[in-house]
Amino acid sequence: MAHSKIAIRRVILSNLFDHLKLNYDFERPAESFLSGQISDREIDILLSYKSDHRLGELREALARVESGTYGRCIGCKQPLSRADLQQDPARRVCSACEHSFSMRSQTSHATVFSGGSR
Ligand SMILES: [Zn+2]
Repeated sequence: MAHSKIAIRRVILSNLFDHLKLNYDFERPAESFLSGQISDREIDILLSYKSDHRLGELREALARVESGTYGRCIGCKQPLSRADLQQDPARRVCSACEHSFSMRSQTSHATVFSGGSR
């Protein structure tokens, strides 16, 4: 399990790196980053002055790798499919739960929009 933990970390970190490069002109080569050897503390420092939804998701995915809950749906606790995780390594709900969550969030979005806060 320790081996795959590093492998998962590497996948998430490479997604994180792509995201940083794309959105923040992130140029740092960071071998330790891509090899998964970077510590969570260093990652937090790296991300401390950047913040967006996707970064949060990826950072949270790393925390779940550490805590051993990565790859399980946070709704029904069932393991996520490999295909789902390949599509999005930060994924945390299975298709069935996502469906029921998005039904719910659509309802709440509607409320936000009608509120007209902008
Ligand atoms: Zn689920």
